[in-house]
This record gives sequence, structure tokens and C-alpha cells, in this order.
Amino acid sequence: MRDPESCDRRGCSRPVTTTLCEEALCLDHFCSRSYEMLNAMDRRNRLNAASHSPTADQIKIADECARKTLDICMSKMLLNNLERARLLDILLWCGDVVNSWGPKKPAGRPALQHGRNEQASLRRRISGGTSSSGTSSSGTSTSGTSGY
Ligand SMILES: [Zn+2]
Repeated sequence: MRDPESCDRRGCSRPVTTTLCEEALCLDHFCSRSYEMLNAMDRRNRLNAASHSPTADQIKIADECARKTLDICMSKMLLNNLERARLLDILLWCGDVVNSWGPKKPAGRPALQHGRNEQASLRRRISGGTSSSGTSSSGTSTSGTSGY
């Protein structure tokens, strides 16, 4: 008999933290499941770059995932730094997926960014005006003598 209080994954007897896609999961498996899902979405969307926006299904899953992540963060559960970092990363990544959907927003108001390479070109365009960021170690040299 399966203990309803413990994680659905085989061989895992840790307590259930939340459910995702109707699977009851412990925190560890929730994180790995979320990453699995987000990575799969990322890969698929990169393959067909023409239709870059995620499907409605993907939005739904990312939305659920973000909500569950928030639930965990807001619960009284004790989290260590690694767990916090993972949850935040998942939350931001879900936000990216959800934000990349729907009508393209006018430029100038960047959505949640946390340094993933798809947005490098966008960021370059934005930072073009200010050029205050010293961290842009651009590998592609911008063939000088552009200014003067
Ligand atoms: Zn588990």
C-alpha cells in the first residue's frame, strides 16, 4: 500500500510538499520535475524558433508550477539556501515562459530577465543607449571605429 503522505516517486519516502500535474511530490522531486518540464519547453521552443511563443498547454503548466512554487515559499516550511535558490530560479523561469506568450509587448519594458542567452540580443539593444554596464564581456567584437 502506498502511503498517501509520502512522495509519489518510486523509492522516495519523503513527505509530500506539493502536487504538480496531479503527482504528489516531495520538495526535491518537485524541483527536479519542474526543471525537467522547463528544460523540455526551452528545448522545444528553441528548435522551432519561428513559433517562439509557448503553447497554451505549456503556459498552463508553467503557471501551475509557479503557483505551487509560491505556495511552498509562503508556507512555514523551513528551506535551506539551496532550496530557496532553486525555488526562486523555477519561479523566474516560469515567469519567463508565461511572459513570452501572447501579443508581443512593445520594446522598452523588458520582462523578467535572469541572464539566459535568448535574451542577449534584446539586452544588447536595451543597453545600447546607456552603456553603463561594465559586465558585458561581449565575445563578438563590435569592430571598432563606430563612434569617432
Ligand atoms: Zn520524492
